[in-house]
Amino acid sequence: MSELRELYQELVLDHNSRPRNFRELENATTRMEGYNPLCGDRVTVYVKLDDGRIEDVSFQGSGCAISRASASMMTSTVKGKTIPEAERLFGAFHEMVTGEAEPEEDDDLGDLEVLAGVAEFPSRVKCATLSWHSMMSALKGQKEPVSTE
Ligand code: ZN
Repeated sequence: MSELRELYQELVLDHNSRPRNFRELENATTRMEGYNPLCGDRVTVYVKLDDGRIEDVSFQGSGCAISRASASMMTSTVKGKTIPEAERLFGAFHEMVTGEAEPEEDDDLGDLEVLAGVAEFPSRVKCATLSWHSMMSALKGQKEPVSTE
């Protein structure tokens, strides 16, 4: 087992068992539910926006380890970012998990980079991106819940 794979497993398991920002955000300015019928993952992402900046972000829901770990890492990474910065991160993350492009150093994906291994498992891409699609939809003020199908 390679070091990266071990690191990947450790971080995913850690974020899964102790998810960061796993709570309802009572003063959220926007929220969105997401559902991945392929795996059964459900998530609600809460965002508190202040002057175009993500002042706080959290999530709740139930799902597989990858969906929980990805949501946990996402909320840790985008807190304090502007909407365009969050969009850029999502673009880099999406390219990484779909195997379209390797992450670059200035993408600042942080822990999220360990999810690069998802690219080897196309059926798990929706698990890894569910919380992101939900957050982006919340940021755009959309009303319809997100479904990955
Ligand atoms: Zn899943």
